[in-house]
Amino acid sequence: MSRYEVKWLDENAVIIKGTIDENFVFDDEVAKFKDSVTIDLQGVDRINSCGVREWVKAIMKTEAHLVFKNCSSVIVSQFSMIPEFLGKNGKVESFETQFICEHCGHEEAKVLQVGKDIQPGQELYEDGPEVTCPECGETMECDHNPELYFSFLSDAS
Ligand SMILES: [Zn+2]
Repeated sequence: MSRYEVKWLDENAVIIKGTIDENFVFDDEVAKFKDSVTIDLQGVDRINSCGVREWVKAIMKTEAHLVFKNCSSVIVSQFSMIPEFLGKNGKVESFETQFICEHCGHEEAKVLQVGKDIQPGQELYEDGPEVTCPECGETMECDHNPELYFSFLSDAS
């Protein structure tokens, strides 16, 4: 049983949600890709190694310019390990990052815009961008290992 959903908004924009696993079939969708396609991945909450394999196999078949938007943290974790995840002409526009406030314990996921909230092309990301806690006003910490989590941005300039 498939636990994912693929929804086309128009011929250049698609939303993918749910679980990307061994039941994920993406070839037919990729065959529909035109010159450029925006892929919204905010709703992807789980991906396993079989899903990654299916994804890469399909996405590497297209020459289309791909813009990855609202990538969830499970997706971002793949970028640093598997560069092919973005396909041949892929670019990340925005992605989710989890922040935690060490002062009051508040946790929040923020969508960071590449080039605005965080700059691409740094050799090493020792820290996330500054985010103010909406609860207590202190600075929130990035709840990932920034060196690893943001490493895909090093090659993204
Ligand atoms: Zn706080």
